[in-house]
Amino acid sequence: MKAVRYWSVNNARWLRWVYKGLETCLTTIYPLLKWLGYQRLDSGFFAVEKLVKGFLFDSKSCGQCTLGETGMACPMNCPKTLRNGPCGGVRANGNCEVDPDMVCVWVTSWEGSKRIGNPESTIQVIQAPVDVRLKGTSAWLRAVRKNWGVDE
Ligand code: SF4
Repeated sequence: MKAVRYWSVNNARWLRWVYKGLETCLTTIYPLLKWLGYQRLDSGFFAVEKLVKGFLFDSKSCGQCTLGETGMACPMNCPKTLRNGPCGGVRANGNCEVDPDMVCVWVTSWEGSKRIGNPESTIQVIQAPVDVRLKGTSAWLRAVRKNWGVDE
């Protein structure tokens, strides 16, 4: 829902704190998650992520979450699924070229990044192209493994 998505960007600062806190907690219990087995946990984590991130961010569950770097705006809501900045068609009022009733995802991303603070250090992180094979898997568990330097 666009209204909730915009609300989340307007509240990006504290939402990112919550997000980082959750990541820290999950990273801390990595040995337990590993012992339980990622394959076994993935579908449960994914279901929770889909519910929470779907409601708050209109997340498309790509499995490679960039919310922390994109001002708590999910770039997969861009009709062209651009992950590294806007296309050349942003309208003069800041709305999307393809969906004129929607604020361009990258306009909201920039606003959210400014609210978080020091936007240049986050939004300028180059995001890899989306890997469709990861759609429908837990981005949170992937982030935990990445923090521990564990390959996919
Ligand atoms: S205007 Fe923004 S949201 Fe719309 S297609 Fe271009 S980059 Fe994506």
